[in-house]
Amino acid sequence: MRLRHIPGAEEEIAKSPYVIQDPREHKGRWNQVFGNDNPVMIEVGMGKGKFLMELAGANPDINYVGIEMYSSVLLKAIRKRKDTRLSNLWFLRVDARTLADIFAFGEVHKIYLNFSDPWPKDRHAKRRLTSPEFMAVYDKILTAQGTVEFKTDNRQLFDYSLESIPGAGWTVQMHTFDLHHSPYMEGNVMTEYETKFSGEGKPICKLIAAREVSLRRDDTKDRT
Ligand code: SAM
Repeated sequence: MRLRHIPGAEEEIAKSPYVIQDPREHKGRWNQVFGNDNPVMIEVGMGKGKFLMELAGANPDINYVGIEMYSSVLLKAIRKRKDTRLSNLWFLRVDARTLADIFAFGEVHKIYLNFSDPWPKDRHAKRRLTSPEFMAVYDKILTAQGTVEFKTDNRQLFDYSLESIPGAGWTVQMHTFDLHHSPYMEGNVMTEYETKFSGEGKPICKLIAAREVSLRRDDTKDRT
């Protein structure tokens, strides 16, 4: 995603009714933020938020949180969000590295990673959102049965993830190298990047990962 500084972005985000300004204060109490006990699902690196806005509209009984670390990108999501009437979607401007400070163990039912930055250089491997470092963060916030759903057009990142995710003690429950021509396409919600890349004829890869049974711990146990 091309990033440029947008003057006034920080101020607009600070005033936005769609952004939780102090997310750490809600750790373990996201049901109070949403006013119900519905499951919480998050997208890490949501970009302009199209995917989550569509999901939130289609699934009023699920709570969604969009995570984006760059103000200039989040601003675009906020502006689009103004045209919707959703009560089950909040945005956070945070780095996903801090997610375990924001959500308690078992508070998140699903994590979506869509078209995450590939970080192709070896020395940047830890920044990949499917690296063992990030999987360890997801392990601290997901329910015992919780899943990570990852889509990308980047075959190199996908191949890396197919190795690194099991290496981190997770099971890859399904994967496909061509989502759009597979049975898994049913119910698929397209992201902004997915629309662009599939429009260019690029195959879209997808995997779903869950913890290996041996890694699952009691939902009630505090992992912090
Ligand atoms: N998910 C959207 C889509 O599929 O259209 C946007 C994809 S864009 C390539 C990846 C986004 O992830 C960028 O907006 C980037 O700022 C965000 N991102 C990357 N690393 C992140 C991190 N550690 N925490 C939060 N957001 C991150």
